[in-house]
Amino acid sequence: MTWDGPIVDHHLHLDLERGRGVAAIEEFVAAGGTHLFVVNKPSWWYGVEVDSGADFRQGFEATLDVVDAAEDLLPGRAWAVLGVHPALLSRLLVDREMDRAAARTLMEAGMELAAEYVAAGKAIALKSGRPHYPVDDATWETANAVLRHALSCAARQNCPLQLHTESGDDFTEIARWAADAGVDPDRVVKHYAGGPIAGLTPSVIARRESLSAAVEADVLFFMETDYLDDPDRPGAVLGPKTVPRRVRWLAESGHEAALEIAHVLAPEHVYHVDTRQRDGT
Ligand SMILES: [Zn+2]
Repeated sequence: MTWDGPIVDHHLHLDLERGRGVAAIEEFVAAGGTHLFVVNKPSWWYGVEVDSGADFRQGFEATLDVVDAAEDLLPGRAWAVLGVHPALLSRLLVDREMDRAAARTLMEAGMELAAEYVAAGKAIALKSGRPHYPVDDATWETANAVLRHALSCAARQNCPLQLHTESGDDFTEIARWAADAGVDPDRVVKHYAGGPIAGLTPSVIARRESLSAAVEADVLFFMETDYLDDPDRPGAVLGPKTVPRRVRWLAESGHEAALEIAHVLAPEHVYHVDTRQRDGT
C-alpha cells in the first residue's frame, strides 16, 4: 500500500540563521513532506529579554520568515503558529524575580501580540500551555490563568490553540475551560501527545508506539516531530524526515484511513484548511 496524499508535520521549529533552516525544509520535502505548521521558538532563543508585549515581535517575525522560505520549497503550504512558551513563566518568576502579577501581564501581552498576527492573517493559530515540570501551587495557578487568557484570545480570533503541557491523557478540565471561553475543544490541540487523550485533539509525536496508539484509538490526531533545529542539541528530537517516514510505515501497514485523518481531516476540522489543495483554502 502507498500513500499519495499530503504529508503534514504539525509542530516543528526552524531557524534560518542559527539552525539548519532551509536545509531542514529541503530534507522534509525530499522525503515526501508537503505541509508544515511552524511554531516560534521561545523568546529567549532569539536573545531577547522580554519586558513588554512588543519584545515578542522579533521571534514572531523570524517565524514568518521561515514560513515564507518554506512556501518557496514545499509542494503545499506552511503556516505560522505563534505564542508564548509556558516555561517563560518560571524564567520571569525565578530567574528575574518578577512578581506574579507582572509576569502574568507580560505573558498575556505576548499572547495579545500573537493574536494580532492571527487577526492580520499572518498566523493561523496561537500557542500557549503550562509547565510540564513540577511547580508550586501559586505558579500553577498563574500558569492556568495565562492559559485561560490564551483561550479567550483564541475565542476572539476564532482560531485554534496549540498547548504545551504536562504529559498525561486526561485534559477534560482544559476542555471545559475551552468550552467556557467559547472555543470548540477539538480546536485546542495538545502538542507532543504520546497517544490518544481525553478532552482535546492530540498532536502525536511521530514515534512508532505513540502513532500506533492513536491509530488503534481511531481518534482525530495530527503527527509532529517537534524538531527544534538547535545545532547544540542535534539528536535531542526527531528529525525533519521523520513524519514522511512514519507515513510510509503506516501506509505499508494498511493504515490509509488513519493517514487520511492525520493529514487531511484533522487540518480541515481544526484549522479549516484543505491540505489537498496547493493554496490550502
Ligand atoms: Zn515545540
